[in-house]
Amino acid sequence: MSSEPEHLQRLRTRMVEQQIMRRGITNRRVLEAMTRVPRHEFLPGNTAEDAYEDGAVAIGHGQTCSQPYVVAYMSSWCDPHPGERVLELGTGSGYQAAVLAEICGEVITIERVEALAESARKRLDRLGYENVTVLCRDGYGGYPEAAPYDIILLTAAAPKIPPPLFRQLSDNGRLIAPVGPGPQRVTRYTKQFGSIHRENGLDVRFVPFVSEHFGDDRT
Ligand code: SAH
Repeated sequence: MSSEPEHLQRLRTRMVEQQIMRRGITNRRVLEAMTRVPRHEFLPGNTAEDAYEDGAVAIGHGQTCSQPYVVAYMSSWCDPHPGERVLELGTGSGYQAAVLAEICGEVITIERVEALAESARKRLDRLGYENVTVLCRDGYGGYPEAAPYDIILLTAAAPKIPPPLFRQLSDNGRLIAPVGPGPQRVTRYTKQFGSIHRENGLDVRFVPFVSEHFGDDRT
């Protein structure tokens, strides 16, 4: 974004250096992507200074866009590579989708609140993210039509991972989610030769993943 005022680029560089690199995130692709994505464009109603603050930001409808450090942490746990295909559940503002779209080949992102899906779609279009598709629905079932995915990312906290999502993960695919109704923990599931390996990470606080399908074991 060469036409962008210099002070916004400065705020963003400072965000990456002080909030993210200093806390130990080293994934070069993620650091570069977060230096490029204009976070303030995703957070209307907030000042640019607020957008680059070290915290989550309200985006309406009771939802939030995560703290920059948490976006960086989740993104680097995804270990994104050029050309990979991503499914995100919980579009919100579209910011996390844009960060992964800077790196990967294609991002499909699902949001259940229609007003949020619509504004994220318009915003991502306007900013030129042609490799992102926003769908409006309950993301519990994932999106089998375009499976498998190298990366599946939940940006809302689920008490358990919806089973259809594991089926839509490619071999060597990574599924990252905040798990737990009470204390939540970022959890990474990696599929290798058909079996799932699980790792626990950072303690976090996300808004809940809301679905009427929880408890339905047939899915
Ligand atoms: N990734 C977003 C922040 C997500 S906040 C960003 O970068 O701004 C969590 C989002 O998940 C909310 O917008 C919420 O409406 C959505 N959500 C919750 N349950 C969902 C479900 N079952 N399917 C799809 N989206 C869901």
